[in-house]
Amino acid sequence: MFYESTRGGLKSVLSAEAIKMGIAPDGGLFVPEHIVKLNMDQINKLVDMSYQERAVEILKHYLDDYTIDELTECVNEAYTTSKFGGFSSITPLVNLNENVSILELWHGPTCAFKDMALQILPHLLVKAVGKTGEKCNIVILVATSGDTGKAALEGFKDVEGTQVMVFFPSNGVSEVQRLQMITQEGKNVYSIAVEGNFDDAQSGVKTIFTDAALQQEMEKNGYKFSSANSINWGRLVPQIVYYFSAYADLIKDGQIQLGDKINIVVPTGNFGNILAAYYALEMGLPINKLICASNENNVLTDFIYTGVYDRNRAFKKTMSPSMDILISSNLERLLYEITGHDANTVSDWMNKLKTSGVYTIDDEVKKKISKLLWAGFTSESETLKTIESIYKEYRYVVDTHTAVGIDVYDKYVISTGDMTKTVVASTASPFKFNESVVKAIWGSEAVKGKSEFELLAVLAKEGNLSIPESLKDLDKKDVLHSELCSKSEMKEKVEKILGL
Ligand SMILES: *Cc1c(COP(=O)(O)O)cnc(C)c1O
Repeated sequence: MFYESTRGGLKSVLSAEAIKMGIAPDGGLFVPEHIVKLNMDQINKLVDMSYQERAVEILKHYLDDYTIDELTECVNEAYTTSKFGGFSSITPLVNLNENVSILELWHGPTCAFKDMALQILPHLLVKAVGKTGEKCNIVILVATSGDTGKAALEGFKDVEGTQVMVFFPSNGVSEVQRLQMITQEGKNVYSIAVEGNFDDAQSGVKTIFTDAALQQEMEKNGYKFSSANSINWGRLVPQIVYYFSAYADLIKDGQIQLGDKINIVVPTGNFGNILAAYYALEMGLPINKLICASNENNVLTDFIYTGVYDRNRAFKKTMSPSMDILISSNLERLLYEITGHDANTVSDWMNKLKTSGVYTIDDEVKKKISKLLWAGFTSESETLKTIESIYKEYRYVVDTHTAVGIDVYDKYVISTGDMTKTVVASTASPFKFNESVVKAIWGSEAVKGKSEFELLAVLAKEGNLSIPESLKDLDKKDVLHSELCSKSEMKEKVEKILGL
């Protein structure tokens, strides 16, 4: 399998090389030359496999320059029962009612779905470095809206031959997320707060990535950049696995029969998670609709209805901060696929986005997208109401991001009447956003005067849940990272850390 850039500047790249580079030198994203198709027999075979076996089964098609032994090693190191909260299924599926199952993607070490990819990416990358004869140390630069940062720090800590630097918006992350990052241990890890929002951090990182002079200087000193953001194919491809795995689990559980279609709902920010579901669909997984759920930063909802992508709007800070994003990077990959790999058109749209913040797709492309995707968004008050009503009805606690998914799904059902079996991707543990969750279910009084740490205990007690191990003693850990910089100072920080 070869990979090519969505901007047309590079073709015939092996997966190890694409994973090592992260982003293509022309600013585009790597995509596979073609999408692998699986038949029903191949899907049926997954039913009796473990999560780890299913992962190798899917990854081997896209990462075919890795041997099966190498992939098996990566998968077995990443997805251990002990790292995933004791769940041998890794991504347990909880049936909420006859129609809706919740795919819990957050049992990994940092309590968000980012672990699904970031526990395996470092292993894939270390092998990629070996395979490509790379002599440089790999410097992982990450812009984070909260969850990626911690997951990358945790995934890469003490991994030989790598350094990881995380930039997070100083006021855009929850207290738990911030503490997770500034207390990170490891000899090769750095986390730095940036004044501004996620888009500032992300565009700062993109600028550093495409700074040719800086790259030359780095290579002279034995360093090379790569990315752990979802622009890296090595992060995207492990996410395809859990959609196939969920389908196999539904069959195993007698909820559906082989070939039955399902809907998939994804709370969306950078468009990485839902793009993985799109690849699953194109690979032959029987999917009826992909439902793209946004919070009040509803750029994607508008885009899917109007065909106009317009980031010129107020950035809203919401209680689902990992989705507070106005530039959904991975949409570029979808556009490239839908236009039949038309790199010129995609480059043109992306340039318009960069210079004026707006681009408009043509009607034909828009129609194709509406066929695949249904989109909706959720207000802050609806998010709270959803958390409350799901708890009251099912005694099941969801986090703010998952609540956005469920609310948009409800709107989908009202609008279409479609009762197809549906899987909702649940992207974070409710403990990670406990203040909003406790407030939604037990009222403002329950949170008054309490720190997020006291609220962990409240949520555990009232909700009859146990606090995830990794969040338990966060407030007692030493603060190891306390740097703050402006967007324009990010490059200097990188240079200073590397001693350039
Ligand atoms: C990152 C994240 C999302 C958004 O996922 P994308 O792949 O960026 O669309 C949603 N929910 C949570 C909890 C996240 O951490």
